[in-house]
Amino acid sequence: MSQDADLNKVVRQHLEMESFFTGFAVKGGVCPEGGSPSASELKRPAEQGSSQPAASVRSRQEPKPMQTADAAKELEAIAAEVRQCRKCDLGSLRTNAVPGEGNPRPRIMFVGEAPGADEDAQGRPFVGRAGQLLDKIIEACGLCRQDVFIGNILKCRPPDNRDPRPDEIISCLPYLQRQIEILNPEILVALGAHAARTLLNTNKAIGQLRGQFHEYFTGIGRPPIKLMATYHTAYLLRNYTPDNRRRVWDDMKKVLAELGLPVPEHGRAS
Ligand code: URA
Repeated sequence: MSQDADLNKVVRQHLEMESFFTGFAVKGGVCPEGGSPSASELKRPAEQGSSQPAASVRSRQEPKPMQTADAAKELEAIAAEVRQCRKCDLGSLRTNAVPGEGNPRPRIMFVGEAPGADEDAQGRPFVGRAGQLLDKIIEACGLCRQDVFIGNILKCRPPDNRDPRPDEIISCLPYLQRQIEILNPEILVALGAHAARTLLNTNKAIGQLRGQFHEYFTGIGRPPIKLMATYHTAYLLRNYTPDNRRRVWDDMKKVLAELGLPVPEHGRAS
């Protein structure tokens, strides 16, 4: 990385973190096409030819990585199925299905609850207010939206943004499970109680689940994927306290540290 790119990255991270903690909109850096300036850091250590793979890689016996083009093709095939899906009633109520989007070979995958009105209108995940806050968090981490993959437990909007019903989750979950299998991220970040409880198959409260790594099991004989649970950005917007922002930021710093990515210094929590 050149010195200029280095400096740009540090400034961008600082501004984004400042805006995340203070709640002020600060114009962040523009993500270049193809991902963040630190894209090389986002390559998995094993792909960088490192003789010292990071702990997260050492502990997981990676399945043979899928080529990016193959992964993108398989993800698009799932998206096409989702757009045709009528497995539950939500299929007839949607304007657009929201299969998820992002980097087909991400180190981090975010999983939310279900599309809201803005996502239903555009067919894209996290594009409303909660999505703008997620973008800020991603950028505060020194990353771009294009670096990560963003999906949801449900692919269609529940009416009036009500909670997902168990039958809807049962119908929809196989799409997400297949996406996770193809993407094979090093870390899953579950946003909110519904995502965390569904992926971890537990009824525990998000306050109990957040802040520590859990294991998401992809199948018998397959290595688990580390999962960090944190508050949903919609919850954070409704409860925008310095303490809650600090908690989410602490969770994300653990994710960055686990991946061996630079962890920005403290921002202001007021
Ligand atoms: N909230 C979610 O959980 N998912 C979205 O895509 C948008 C808002």
